[in-house]
Amino acid sequence: MMENKSTDTSRPLLGGIEAGGTKIVCAIAEEPSEPIEQESFSTGEPQETIAQVVAFFNDAIKTHGPIASLGIGTFGPADIHPRSPGYGSILTTPKKGWSHFSIVQSIRDGIDIELPIAFDTDVNAAAIGEAEYGSGQNHRFIAYITLGTGVGGGFLEDGQLLHGRMHPEIGHIPVPDFDKDFGKSTNVCPFHASCFEGRASGPSLKERWGTPGQDLPGDHEAWDLQAKYIAAGCIGLTAAWSPETIIIGGGVSQQEGLIEKVRTEFKNQSGDYWALPSLDVYLQTPELDQKAGIVGSLCMARRMLK
Ligand code: ADP
Ligand code: ZN
Repeated sequence: MMENKSTDTSRPLLGGIEAGGTKIVCAIAEEPSEPIEQESFSTGEPQETIAQVVAFFNDAIKTHGPIASLGIGTFGPADIHPRSPGYGSILTTPKKGWSHFSIVQSIRDGIDIELPIAFDTDVNAAAIGEAEYGSGQNHRFIAYITLGTGVGGGFLEDGQLLHGRMHPEIGHIPVPDFDKDFGKSTNVCPFHASCFEGRASGPSLKERWGTPGQDLPGDHEAWDLQAKYIAAGCIGLTAAWSPETIIIGGGVSQQEGLIEKVRTEFKNQSGDYWALPSLDVYLQTPELDQKAGIVGSLCMARRMLK
């Protein structure tokens, strides 16, 4: 008689939420890179938005059984310090109704079961996603930056996120004024004379050239200037921390050919000071692309179980 070797191979069910400024993506998965179910809702006012999120998970629990843990990557500013009294909430924001709204508490209150919840920024979630399943695999010191409506970054050392007193704000590191070489003077940051976000975010492209990035032709000089700013930001990051690779994501990074220009600019501006690995490895596009945030949120959920 054959011994029955069958074992239960099912893994715990994970929940993930990527809460963006325009949409909220919810997913459940056993394996973070392969969601079983996924749905998006537009980010409206908090009560109605969270009600949709909670309904998604309660339905998923009915269909698939209990979820073991939940990971949330959120738009900021957010209180991500577990020991802070406001942990789990959005801080002061112009987004209607969201200031000091506790995402974690409202989900705990609405969801039918008790479960551990991880809460961090959307950028940090995307950094974890890229580290575990994307371009950061096989690297120990990983910087993930996103160039979208704003500019942000998440940093991982041996899989652990770097959290400072708050969270890193690489969008506001100073960059030289390259605009003047192009007869321009655009800076959309109201706080700083010349910072990475003010010069290189999606809105800065639109303001400078009168056309959003996705509609600018590939041979437009906008991309030469854009590459200079991205390279300058990456040089600041390299000098401050010395990552092993910088993964450049976000809407603006989808522009074809931009990464090659950034590598060339990085080489020019850095004066070959650092003995870096090949710039093809050092400056990369994100392998998971738009999926990094939700995959990372599911990874955060899995980390809660370890
Ligand atoms: P968010 O930062 O709001 O989460 P995204 O990362 O998608 O969203 O970034 C949105 C910004 O990226 C917008 O300013 C948009 O104009 C710009 N963008 C989107 N696609 C492209 C593209 N192909 N090339 C350049 N810019 C783009
Ligand atoms: Zn700034």
